[in-house]
Amino acid sequence: MKVSFIGLGVMGYPMAGHLSNNNSNIELKVYNRTTEKTKKWLNEYKGTFSKTPAEAAKDCDIVFLCVGNDNDVNQVVQGENGVLKSIPKNSIIVDHTTASAKIAINLHQICQNQKKVSFLDAPVSGGQAGAENGKLTIMIGGDEASYNKVLPFLNNYAKNTSLIGKSGSGQLAKMVNQICIAGLLQGLSEAINFAQKVDLDVEKVISVIKDGAASSWQMENRYKTMTKDQFDFGFAVEWMRKDLKICLEQADKVGARLPVTAIIDQFYSNILNNGGRRWDTSSLIKLLR
Ligand code: NAP
Repeated sequence: MKVSFIGLGVMGYPMAGHLSNNNSNIELKVYNRTTEKTKKWLNEYKGTFSKTPAEAAKDCDIVFLCVGNDNDVNQVVQGENGVLKSIPKNSIIVDHTTASAKIAINLHQICQNQKKVSFLDAPVSGGQAGAENGKLTIMIGGDEASYNKVLPFLNNYAKNTSLIGKSGSGQLAKMVNQICIAGLLQGLSEAINFAQKVDLDVEKVISVIKDGAASSWQMENRYKTMTKDQFDFGFAVEWMRKDLKICLEQADKVGARLPVTAIIDQFYSNILNNGGRRWDTSSLIKLLR
């Protein structure tokens, strides 16, 4: 099979690496807008260099992408040197970017109409560590036959994948994920700040409550760094703001109320305007200091 991976960022770099390491029988092409990253990747893994998304997609059965936002996905798929210029009929595009459901549905239709290509929206959760350890979770929207074809490849970097429903459902499921996380992180921030203010040993407190009803991934993985105000890693505030904007716009369309999410979005705006653009999302605690 011929496969390509477009977007070797924090997430795409290790994901493409897993594809290369686990599939000696495929021809893997990689593309990244900044060429240095592609060269670095090719020093570490087996694959071939592509100059443009169109070159990467040529003759491919499956094209994976993981770029930034709606505009980036649009450009990579439909742009001047985009995937649609060269991708063969009946192939599959798997988009791992966190984007809107609207762009997923739109591109699904365009790909079908222009090339009979299947477009799966497949955003991921699990962060940089999940991508590096091959333990992401993936929520997918699109047709079942294409999902079944790409599943063995997704299993190279995921511990849990699910076909949620028709096109756009993967992105809608990712919105649910982000809504859960936003409120939770504020609660965790308030709890840790409170524990410190009342002079409790936070380590001792967390080591007992983490096994009870208050437990969460964020508690397990972030409490230590939050107590020390360390945020120079992880899932960037600018990405979270992009994601919450998508959630709030979608909620507005269907009349779903998201009062807490809307407030947290404003808190993140504050952090972003005060130099925390690339800080981890657990930096919400900073506003309580
Ligand atoms: P990143 O490190 O900033 O990487 C983004 C990648 O997309 C880079 O390779 C970048 O190329 C490429 N790109 C952006 N715009 C492009 C364009 N217009 N044309 C071509 N390539 C373009 O971001 P990331 O952390 O890997 O995140 C990627 C996606 O996964 C985002 O949608 C993010 O929300 C989502 N996500 C991230 C995490 C996380 O923990 N980081 C977790 C879950 C989901 P250059 O190298 O040239 O900039």
